[in-house]
Amino acid sequence: MIKVLDSFVADKIAAGEVIERPVSAVKELVENSIDAGARTIIVEIRNGGKSYIRITDDGCGISFDEAETAFLRHATSKISSITDLDRIVSLGFRGEALASIAAVSRLTMVTRTADSPSGAKLVLHGGQVVSKERTGANKGTTVIAEDLFYNTPARRKFMKSDAREASSIIELIQQYAVFYSDIRFMMINNGQTLFSTAGDGDVSAVIKMLYPDIARRGLIPVSDGSVTGFVSDPGSTMNTRKGQLFFVNGRLVSSNVIEKGLVEGYQGRIFSGFPAAVLFIDTDPSTVDVNIHPGKREIRFLRQDEVRNAISEAVRRAVMTDAGIPKGFVKNIESSEPESLNNNRGTVFEQQESEQTSIRDFLSGLQRTDTAETAEAEVKTETEAAEIFEIAEVNTEDQYTAFSSVENAAAPAPFDFSDLAFKGYVFNTYIIMQGKDELYIFDQHAAHERVFYEKFMRGYDNSSHAPQPLLTAFTIEVSPDVYSMDRDWLDDLRRMGYDIEDFGERTFIIRGIPPYMETGEAAGFAAGYAEAAGETGGSNRTVIDKLIMRSCKSAVKANDKLSELEISELMEKLSRCDNPYSCPHGRPTFIRVTAYDIERSFRRK
Ligand code: ADP
Ligand code: MG
Repeated sequence: MIKVLDSFVADKIAAGEVIERPVSAVKELVENSIDAGARTIIVEIRNGGKSYIRITDDGCGISFDEAETAFLRHATSKISSITDLDRIVSLGFRGEALASIAAVSRLTMVTRTADSPSGAKLVLHGGQVVSKERTGANKGTTVIAEDLFYNTPARRKFMKSDAREASSIIELIQQYAVFYSDIRFMMINNGQTLFSTAGDGDVSAVIKMLYPDIARRGLIPVSDGSVTGFVSDPGSTMNTRKGQLFFVNGRLVSSNVIEKGLVEGYQGRIFSGFPAAVLFIDTDPSTVDVNIHPGKREIRFLRQDEVRNAISEAVRRAVMTDAGIPKGFVKNIESSEPESLNNNRGTVFEQQESEQTSIRDFLSGLQRTDTAETAEAEVKTETEAAEIFEIAEVNTEDQYTAFSSVENAAAPAPFDFSDLAFKGYVFNTYIIMQGKDELYIFDQHAAHERVFYEKFMRGYDNSSHAPQPLLTAFTIEVSPDVYSMDRDWLDDLRRMGYDIEDFGERTFIIRGIPPYMETGEAAGFAAGYAEAAGETGGSNRTVIDKLIMRSCKSAVKANDKLSELEISELMEKLSRCDNPYSCPHGRPTFIRVTAYDIERSFRRK
C-alpha cells in the first residue's frame, strides 16, 4: 500500500533536494527497483544521463490505481510511522525520489503488477501529469527520465561533463552489482552494453568482472557471522583505498572505523599500502545513522569499537590461514610475460581486464559519439535488453533477499608446518621447504624476529621470571642521552628477568638474564632495548610493545649461517607462534611459489 506520510513523520525526515546530478536519479531509481524485488535491472543512459536515463526492472510493479500516488511527495509504501525510521531495511524510505525526479525531467513510467493483465503508462513533465493510460507491458517497471533539469537551468550548470557523469553512474552500478550479486545488472551507455552480470549470487565472479584490480590481489574469503566478503593477501596491497568497498546493510559507505578494523585484522602484516577488500557488514539498522544526506557515503556507527573489533577479528581469521601467505614472484611473472603467452592464456580474467579497458575507452570517447552512431546502436541495445529480460523472467518467483551473502566459502585451515620437507638453504639466509604442490621460501631473519618477538612478549607479560644468574657478568654501553634519561627501561628489563644495574661511565652491568634467553640474545636485546627507549622516550605498555618489536632485530645475529639442526629448531619455533606469517614489522616470514607459477615461468603452462 502506498500512502502519504503524516506531516510529523514527513518533517522528521531531513528535507532537502534528493536529485543533484544524474547519478542521484539513477541511484534512487535503481534502489526502487531493488526494493521492488527485481531479479534483473537494466540501466541505460545517454550523455551521462543528462538527456536520457532508463531503468527497467522485473520487480513487483505498481498497480494502475496507485501509479499516480507514487509521484506524490512523501508517498511511500515502505514506512508509515516514526518508529519504523529506526529500523530501515529497504533502501528508499523518504518517499520523495520519484516526485523529485519527475519535477525536474520529462518522465515516463510504464509499470505492471503480476496480477494485472494490463499495465499503466504515465507521462509527467516537470512533475505535472500529462497523460495516463492503460498499456500492455512486461511485469515490472520502466522509468525513463529525459532532459534532466530542463526546467531548472541553474542546476544544469552544476553538472559535470558527460563522461564524468557517466562514469559516476557506471561506478555506482558496478557497486550495486557486487552487493546484489543475485540480481542481474546490465549497464548500457550511449547504446553500448558495458557489462552484464550473471545475477547468480557469485560475488567473486562479479568482482573479477568489474574490479580486476581487486581480484588480482587475491580474494581470501572472509566469512564470520555479520562480516563477510573478500580481502587481499597481506603482500598484495594497493597504493590507494580504491580497492576497498564496504557495504553496510547494503549501502556502499566510507568509514574510518571499518578501515581501521580492516588494517588491524592483518595484525601488522601490511608492510606498505592499503589492502584491497570487499566487505559486507550486516548490523542492526538501529545502530547505524542512515538518515544522512543521501549523496554522502560517510556512515556513523553508534558502537564503533564493536564494529571495528568484529571486522578486525573476521579479517584476522581470514588472513591467518594458508590463504594469507604472500605469493612469491607473481608480479615478475606477469610483467615479463611475452605477448603471445598473454594472448594464449585467454582466461576469464584476461577477458575481464579487456572489458574494463573498454569501459575506460568508452568514457574517454564518450564526447566524440555522435547521434547517428547512438541511433544505430540503440536498435542493438533494445534487442539485447529483451534477451536478457527473457532469461530473467524464469527467476521472477524467487524470494527477494535484502542481503546477498557470500557463497558458503569454507574457511581455509591455518597453515600446517608439519607437511613441509626441508629442501635447501641459500645465501645463508633463505630456507627452502617443499609442500605438496608448492615450495616455500623462509627468510631466516624475519622468522627469527617473529620467534623472538613472541617469546619476549610472553616473557614480559608473564613477569614472574627470576633472573638466571651468569657465571661471568657482562656490561652494555649506551649513548650519553640514553644514560642521562629516565630509567623506566631498566625496570622493564628487570621485569623481563634481567639482573641489571648502573655501572657508571654509560655502562650497565648484567649479572643475570631472563631464563628464556641465551646470553648472546640477551645482550643484543638489552642494548637494543635501551637504545630504542632512548629514541622513543619513556615506556608505557604500547611503547614497550614497540620497543620489544624493534629490539628483536638486535637479538638476531646478522648473516649467521644456520645448521640443519638449527633450521629445524627455527621451523619448530615458528610453527608454534601465534602469527607465524610475518615478522613484527610486517614483512613476510615466508612466501609461497606454486608449482604452477614455476611452470608458467618456464612457459610450460
Ligand atoms: P520511496 O522509495 O522512498 O518509497 P519513491 O518516491 O522512490 O519513494 O517511490 C515511491 C513509491 O513508489 C515506493 O514506495 C514504491 O511503492 C513505488 N515504486 C517506486 N519505484 C518502483 C518500482 N521500480 N517498482 C515498484 N514500485 C515502485
Ligand atoms: Mg525510492
